[in-house]
Amino acid sequence: MSGAGRNRPVPRFSGALSSGYHSPQLEVAVRLNTNEAPEPPPREFVAALSAAVDKLALNRYPDRRATGLRAALADQHGVGADQIFCANGSNEVIQSLLLAYGGPGRSCVVFEPTYALHSHIARLTSTTIVEGERDAGYLIAPSELAATLARAAAVGEGEPAIVFLCSPNNPTGLIEPDETVAAVLAAAPGLVVVDEAYVQFARRSVLELVGGNENLVVLRTFSKTWSLAGLRLGYAIGAPDVVEACFEAALPYHLDAVQQEAGILAVGFSAAMDARVARLVAGRARVLAGLATLGLDATPSESNFILFSTGDRDAHAVWEGLVARSVLIRDLSGWPRLGGHLRVTIGTPEENDAFLAALAEVLG
Ligand SMILES: *Cc1c(COP(=O)(O)O)cnc(C)c1O
Repeated sequence: MSGAGRNRPVPRFSGALSSGYHSPQLEVAVRLNTNEAPEPPPREFVAALSAAVDKLALNRYPDRRATGLRAALADQHGVGADQIFCANGSNEVIQSLLLAYGGPGRSCVVFEPTYALHSHIARLTSTTIVEGERDAGYLIAPSELAATLARAAAVGEGEPAIVFLCSPNNPTGLIEPDETVAAVLAAAPGLVVVDEAYVQFARRSVLELVGGNENLVVLRTFSKTWSLAGLRLGYAIGAPDVVEACFEAALPYHLDAVQQEAGILAVGFSAAMDARVARLVAGRARVLAGLATLGLDATPSESNFILFSTGDRDAHAVWEGLVARSVLIRDLSGWPRLGGHLRVTIGTPEENDAFLAALAEVLG
């Protein structure tokens, strides 16, 4: 018999059957939907990177432990290099953490609404997700924290392996208050992962708590502040044990030589990045004021995006009206808990003005 007839589709692993993560990429003039930096990285950085790539021995495998990059980041943050794990975006850091600490019979906790990738990657690693609900102000009430941890303790092996926080939270832009972080650290038996992808736009970070808390892991990325989303570089700062667990879970040589070189060089351009952040924070104030002028209710963001409600106007129709004017923002109105809401990324002054002008027309 020949091998003919083998055309049944192979059933997919059920965990992969979720809808996944999609932000439609339409051809538009003004793209404010994925929280990227509007400016390219500094020209001097790109020139230095080209020169460095020219010298790389690409026939060789990269440094598996990313020694130089971890040392540069450790220096920048005043921590030990053994406290840093780098990967392909903070998304791969999240995956490594879930592979190392999650899995069948284990649970993780998220407080919705929050960054969809925490639960999406948990699902891919067969980690049970226990969802807590944020209150009307998008914060975590102490009673909800206790109730959610109790529910997680009843799952599988008991006790959540990871509690995810996001500060500033995507999509609300709010930081987790100090009391919340302290309460979670006190109550959570497993790892507490604080995703700080946007922290440079915020008043404060929880990084200084890492030294005193073996269970705290802080996530950072080059994707937003550093104008380097295309590079796919993120990292965790945590206890050396956690870093080693991540190394074991990641594929060997997962971080390529160019990424490592680019990360090392980027750290040398901190001042240029700070200037970019300052421009975006100014843009954020301008967009917040513009939304208020249009009579729209916006969440006071500490990030490079703003969540706002379209009030009695249909949010999806407003989003479509903006697309018709070549402005793409994020339509969250179909998401649980976010009915009537849209999210706009802060762009260049011209892009911000184009967004506000188009929005005024749509609402007009
Ligand atoms: C954009 C974003 C990231 C970035 O992920 P990368 O994989 O580093 O690009 C991480 N966390 C949150 C909350 C984000 O919004």
